[in-house]
Amino acid sequence: MSKFWSPVVHSLTPYVPGEQPKISGLIKLNTNENPYGPSPRAVEAMQRALGDSLRLYPDPGSDALRSTLAAYHGIGTEQVFVGNGSDEVLAVVFQALLDHEQALLFPDISYSFYPVYCGLYGIAYRQVPLNDKMEIDVDDYRGPCGAIIFPNPNAPTGIALPLAAIERLLQAQPERVVVIDEAYVDFGVESAVSLIGRYPNLLVVQTLSKSRSLAGLRVGTAYGSTELIAGLERVKNSFNSYPLDRVAQAGAIAAYQDEAYFQQTRQAIIATREALSASLGQLGFEVLPSGANFVFVRHPRCDAARLAAGLRERAIIVRHFHSPRIDQYLRITIGTDDECAALVAALTELLPAL
Ligand SMILES: *Cc1c(COP(=O)(O)O)cnc(C)c1O
Repeated sequence: MSKFWSPVVHSLTPYVPGEQPKISGLIKLNTNENPYGPSPRAVEAMQRALGDSLRLYPDPGSDALRSTLAAYHGIGTEQVFVGNGSDEVLAVVFQALLDHEQALLFPDISYSFYPVYCGLYGIAYRQVPLNDKMEIDVDDYRGPCGAIIFPNPNAPTGIALPLAAIERLLQAQPERVVVIDEAYVDFGVESAVSLIGRYPNLLVVQTLSKSRSLAGLRVGTAYGSTELIAGLERVKNSFNSYPLDRVAQAGAIAAYQDEAYFQQTRQAIIATREALSASLGQLGFEVLPSGANFVFVRHPRCDAARLAAGLRERAIIVRHFHSPRIDQYLRITIGTDDECAALVAALTELLPAL
C-alpha cells in the first residue's frame, strides 16, 4: 500500500498467471501452451521482419493481418479487431462493451481474469453457478443483466456448449452484448463466428496463444458487428494506437496462411487428449468431457493438492486451483504423447502411495 497510488489501486486483486519455472527437463502441463512449435512459415516470416524496418512504427491498424483474418473467416475487415493477446483484447472489451448499469454475468467457475478486469474498471458483476455436472446452462443467463461473458469451451472445466445453445442465448438477450471467449475453440468445438452476421450483439474473442502455438508473441482477435468493433477501436485508439508490433503482425499473418500445419497439430492434440482421458479413466480419475487442449480431472480417493505436489517432485507441473468447488480437481494441459505417457507413469506410481 502506498499513499502515492490512485485510490482504485488499493482495491485491486491482480490475476496470478500459472507459473513459468526456469527448470530444464520439466514437463510443463500447467498453462495450456501448445506442445508443438509454431508454424515454421510463421517463424520465417518473423525472421524476415527483423531488420531495418523495425526503426519504423508498425501499421497502427494491423490492416494486412485484419484482412487475412477476415478472409479466413469469410467476414469483413471492419468486423475484425486485434490486440496483444486476447487478455488485452478482453481488457478493451470490458471497458468498451461490458460496463453497464446492471451487473455483468459470468460463470462462478470460469476464466479468473474476468473478476480482475471488473475490479480494474469498476464493473458490477454476478457469478452464475455452473450446474451440478459443471456445465454452463444458458437458461440461467436469461434474466436482467448488463452483459454476458463466458469461454466456450469453458475454462478450466473444458466443457463446451453446442452452437445451438449459444444461439438460444443470443435470441433471449438481443439487447445485451454476449461475449464468447473462444481461446480453446480449435480443439474440437464449433465457433460462433458464423453467427456474427445475424446477431449484432455477439462478440467472439480468439487467441493465437493456444491452437496456433504463439503464446510468446501475444496476439488475440475479436470478431463481431461493425458496431461492436467500432466501440473497441475507440477505446484502443484512446489507449495505444500501435498495439501489435511488426514482428507480431508478420508472424500472425503467416500462421493463418499455413492451414496444413494448423490442422495437423490441432488434430494431434485432440488425439492425445482422447488417449490421455482414457488412460486417466483407467487409473480411476473422473475426467470431464473436454473440447480444449487440457483435461479437468479429479480422483475420488486422492487429494488433488497432494497429487499435484507428488507430480511436482517428479518434475511434472499441472495446475491446481485453491478455489471453492474445484479444489479437488487438477487441470492438465495436453502435451506430446511422450509427456502424457510420463504423466500417466508418474500417477501410476503415486496413486497407491497416496
Ligand atoms: C489463455 C486464455 C486467454 C488468454 O490468452 P492470451 O494468451 O492472452 O491470448 C483468454 N481466455 C481464456 C479462457 C484463456 O484460457
